[in-house]
Amino acid sequence: MTGQFVPDNLDAALWENIEPFANDLLERGLNCSNCLEGLIRDASNLAEHISEAGALLYIGMTCNTDSEEKKGAFLDFVSNVRPKLSEFSDSLNRRIVGHPSLDDLSDRYDLMIRAMKTDLEIFCKENIPLGVEQTKLITEAQAIKGAMTVDFDGEERTLPQMSGYLESNDRSEREAAWSAVVERRMLDSERLSEIFDELVGIRHQIALNAGFDSYTHYMFRAMHRFDYNIEDCLEFHESIEAVCMPLLRGINDERRDCLEITRLAPWDVNEKTGFGPDIHGLPPLRPFQTADEMVAKLSVMFHGMSGDLGGKFDKLVEMDTLDLDTRKGKAPGGYQYYLEKSRVPFIFMNAAGLQGDLETMIHEAGHAFHSLYCGHLELIDERGYPIEFAEVASMSMELLTQTGWDMFYPDGEADRARKTHLEGVVFLLPWIATIDSFQHWVYANPGHSRQERSEAWLSIRDRFGSDMDWGGHSAFREVSWQQQGHLYGAPFYYIEYGIAQLGALQLWQTHRKDSQKALNDYAEAMSLGNTRTLPDLFSAAGLTLGFDEAHLASLIGEVDEAMVGIKA
Ligand SMILES: [Zn+2]
Repeated sequence: MTGQFVPDNLDAALWENIEPFANDLLERGLNCSNCLEGLIRDASNLAEHISEAGALLYIGMTCNTDSEEKKGAFLDFVSNVRPKLSEFSDSLNRRIVGHPSLDDLSDRYDLMIRAMKTDLEIFCKENIPLGVEQTKLITEAQAIKGAMTVDFDGEERTLPQMSGYLESNDRSEREAAWSAVVERRMLDSERLSEIFDELVGIRHQIALNAGFDSYTHYMFRAMHRFDYNIEDCLEFHESIEAVCMPLLRGINDERRDCLEITRLAPWDVNEKTGFGPDIHGLPPLRPFQTADEMVAKLSVMFHGMSGDLGGKFDKLVEMDTLDLDTRKGKAPGGYQYYLEKSRVPFIFMNAAGLQGDLETMIHEAGHAFHSLYCGHLELIDERGYPIEFAEVASMSMELLTQTGWDMFYPDGEADRARKTHLEGVVFLLPWIATIDSFQHWVYANPGHSRQERSEAWLSIRDRFGSDMDWGGHSAFREVSWQQQGHLYGAPFYYIEYGIAQLGALQLWQTHRKDSQKALNDYAEAMSLGNTRTLPDLFSAAGLTLGFDEAHLASLIGEVDEAMVGIKA
């Protein structure tokens, strides 16, 4: 690439630095035959700088939720740069879409123009300050959760550190750990409910302002869901109920019988992941002690799969863009954030030595591979793969690496880890249906009371949840949706995990028969970035996009078979 429009050292965290370039894009003459393409290329270059500046501020904040300075810097960007940026993007989109030579552009730009037209359709200036309000509330919710620690077993511990106790074989220790976490969560539950109330109000208003009757309809457009609709999601929920729930109940029954208890409690099995103490009383799986050890072993494992993946993983380590260990003042969860200008993936997580942490790291590495595979594409829009397919990259990596987990378990316990992970697949789909159904209900009923919200949540949990005795913790159960950060920070972003899991399971099926073919399909489809529609990306990887019961049953049937195989 020669002659970049924006100098490499531009500080794009400040609007005053961005403005001259933005004005140039809005005002320059466009009379030559290649002018429109030149404009798109330069706009992409500017967008890379701004995206990376925002990413670095977000990373800085989530790595230090207790730093007022980092939080202030991120919120400055949110309130000063983002509003001007959305107005600018709208004007630029209008300029491009309205240009007389638009139809002369090659089909390379078709998907980009489709996305621009959709963004223009939903844009509304009154929504800009509401977007800022929204981000402030999300940031507050994140800070509240990041600050949560409990005094347990003689030390102050983060909540990710507490997960380890929930795998303990001592039931009373599990109950004590679970209760300590719940008591801590309940201290902030009122404020988290208020924040959610405010978010629902703001989001409904955003939809009305943009001319939609509900936030659901607005979001299906805003998230560029061109290839499936609300009915498909509802059909998917039904397929999950029919196919996964009988298996989930069977896994729970086995757990209950092996633990020799009459009914499971929330400290016997994690509702979302299916994790819990080993049912045969074996000590918890501990694949690594430090994040460094995990990284070193993963490098060997990925090299064992292919030189290509091994090389890509080593690149992540060399670039030193990993923040993996859990500590106080770090936001919960894990994510991969691609630095668009440097074309470097950053990985964030809270590793505490659990099997679930290993899976998270492999998941985020899958996102990073995806970013690296399509990093050669010139324009930021061409690299901005759809999230439904992004999660195929990450979720399939969890399944494809299963055969390589032995190095984390020299004592032959990898089979246990594999079985736990496959059970996790069976548990996760009903959880996805739960979160998605809940969001459909919340935004279809924006004027709901907290009481109604709790009732809706509990009835959805009855449909997709485990049969458990909640004892005296019913108040927590009613607000247990608060743990799912996506409900705050990424509304409606959840069904994607389910759609992607169906793709990931198909890649895994291929991998079981022919591992090289699966890895080739993976590389080929991921390197397409965002240059194909979602159904075409699925077919490029040899996958079918579908929501019906028969399709799901064929995939989950193979998961069941594999679990039975491990038991034998
Ligand atoms: Zn992911």
